[in-house]
Amino acid sequence: MAKLGDWLEPHPHGIYVRPADAWIDPSIPQPRALVTHGHADHARGGHGAVWATPETLAIMDTRYGEQAGHPVAYRESVRLGEVEASFVPAGHVLGSAQILLEHRGERIVVSGDYKRRADPTCAPFEPIACDVFITEATFGLPVFRHPETGDEIDKLIARLHANPDRCVLVGAYALGKAQRVIAELRARGHEAPIYIHGALQRLCDLYAEHGVRLGELIPVAGVAKAAMAGHVVMCPPSALNDRWSRRLPDPITAMASGWMRVRQRARQKLVELPLIMSDHADWDELTDTIEEIAPREVWVTHGREDALIHWCEMRQIKARALALIGFEDEDD
Ligand SMILES: [Zn+2]
Ligand SMILES: [Zn+2]
Repeated sequence: MAKLGDWLEPHPHGIYVRPADAWIDPSIPQPRALVTHGHADHARGGHGAVWATPETLAIMDTRYGEQAGHPVAYRESVRLGEVEASFVPAGHVLGSAQILLEHRGERIVVSGDYKRRADPTCAPFEPIACDVFITEATFGLPVFRHPETGDEIDKLIARLHANPDRCVLVGAYALGKAQRVIAELRARGHEAPIYIHGALQRLCDLYAEHGVRLGELIPVAGVAKAAMAGHVVMCPPSALNDRWSRRLPDPITAMASGWMRVRQRARQKLVELPLIMSDHADWDELTDTIEEIAPREVWVTHGREDALIHWCEMRQIKARALALIGFEDEDD
């Protein structure tokens, strides 16, 4: 009897789906690519043809120029060779999808990156029954438990109000995290204009065009220093300690990232106000999801694989690590 899922070939630079003659999230250009979401470690430019959600294709067009894209909306499916492929919300960033592959009576789900908590900028993760669940494990250790997002946003607002002569400069990745911080601020009633670094403009525009409510965003360039006192300013993490920030009124440096849980990382980046906000599942979300889906096998990709594999084995679920390279997420 054939081995479960042996029609999938994990390679260091992506997963090859043999009966579809296509790659999932390949890190080098391939003739046919299925892409889970727009982060750079999953979506590269230069493929011959790309199957992805319309939102992911729009993000790729923005970053790499027009793609030879085949849009597949959530819950639609597409036939590729002998494989039926469907895209299901992953709750990670706008347009992010798990890819369900059906072949030979077997169902395999490639999660891409995912999280389970509410995010006002994207459709929530949907658990789907499958034989093999291929999961990420970015925060695959029991010490990783993300706090409530609302509490982190409240900390940010409190610091802002306590310092009317200064601004709070929030470093956040340009795709996903920046828009989520803004949308969460709006959801908690913060309606004042938010100032943004130029590098965030195009993706914020794209989110707004897709119906995500970001409110009034003003480019920092050309605004007088004093006008930004008492306001939130958003920038990519690379600009946090950059000369660029000298144009801001005495900024309080904040950063929104799951890694802010690790004190050392916050200190390295000279972050005064660490905001623990992740677009990845934490340990409880990972294990709860596996329990809920109850797959026959779990394959673990980028991150800390060992603890999750051990957790599965303790519960008689077959588990293995896939040695994919190049997945150092830009998003957390
Ligand atoms: Zn990602
Ligand atoms: Zn990733």
